[in-house]
Amino acid sequence: MNYAEIARRLAAWHDEQQRALPWRGAPAGRRDAYAVWVSEIMAQQTRLDTAADYFTRWMARFPTLEALAAADQQDVLKAWEGLGYYARARNLHRAAQIVAETYGGRLPRTRRELLELPGIGEYSAGAILSLAFGLHEPILDGNVKRVFSRLADIDSPIDERTALQRLWEMARALVEASAEGQAGVVNEALMELGALVCTPGRPRCLACPLHDLCAAAAHGTQAQRPVRLPRRKTPHYDVAAGVIWQGEAYASPLLIAQRPADGMLGGLWEFPGGKLEPDDADLQACLRREIAEELAVEIEVHEPLTTVRHAYTHFRITLHAFHARWLDGVPQALGCADWRWARLDQLAEYPFPVTDQKIIQSLAQAEESP
Ligand code: SF4
Repeated sequence: MNYAEIARRLAAWHDEQQRALPWRGAPAGRRDAYAVWVSEIMAQQTRLDTAADYFTRWMARFPTLEALAAADQQDVLKAWEGLGYYARARNLHRAAQIVAETYGGRLPRTRRELLELPGIGEYSAGAILSLAFGLHEPILDGNVKRVFSRLADIDSPIDERTALQRLWEMARALVEASAEGQAGVVNEALMELGALVCTPGRPRCLACPLHDLCAAAAHGTQAQRPVRLPRRKTPHYDVAAGVIWQGEAYASPLLIAQRPADGMLGGLWEFPGGKLEPDDADLQACLRREIAEELAVEIEVHEPLTTVRHAYTHFRITLHAFHARWLDGVPQALGCADWRWARLDQLAEYPFPVTDQKIIQSLAQAEESP
């Protein structure tokens, strides 16, 4: 494969075609490392226009790595609220503190040191090194994997080790063949090509600058590339959550709980509850059991409020939210990190996952309706 020619064409294409995004102020290879890092972490698992909005707000709130390091974790989670995959926010925050303490607030310039920071994997390290520092370091995200698997017409599943190794070798060969100082531009062009032209469904091969160099285009196999291992069926769980009023509904505080710091959605707040187990007679019984286990509180379950469906990476849930009334017991943080009695108008101060934000919306609508 003629990597030097691919790099040259990608760089030329990028000059004409790249999209304007808030983190692309300076040319690729000479950008602020903190901004590159934040943007790359935000853009993982997130639509680019959504990430762009969050990025702009984030940089206004935490303009420097030092500002992020000094921030309270609840403020960091609040700024991330709605983006999902909250471990990304917790890791950014923790890694910023480490960089502030260990590297004087400057991100290190080697892959090995970057990989030691929480939340920075091979892809993010390559992005920081090439887009910020202009180093000839490879990247491999989903878009790049797709482009390479088509350029080389790889007919084995790209999730398998050998194919993955080959893709990394291609990514490395490409940056090594890039003109001096151009690795960041070439890496970004490759990701951009995957996002805009070499798309998953129907690649726009006639608009592609690599058309005559692409093996899949020559063989007519673009639609079959990349080959992937068959997906396993994602499990589904029913979950009950309680809007537990201390007294009269809407006129009294309600009970919210903070999720344990280390687990999924760690540090966020929620309406307490949990997964329906085989021994639970119904969702109401599940909710009473969960609240007793998690907070040592006895409740009476009232009418359903709303149902929310949500898909996480490895499972799906249907969240059944009920109104409930506190009966007895001072809450204790047995299965949660913390708890609060909060009024409805105070909930905006706490970071909640998307599912619980939908419960809050339902509460606000129900309160407004006669
Ligand atoms: Fe992708 Fe088509 Fe370009 Fe090949 S020619 S890299 S399949 S867009």
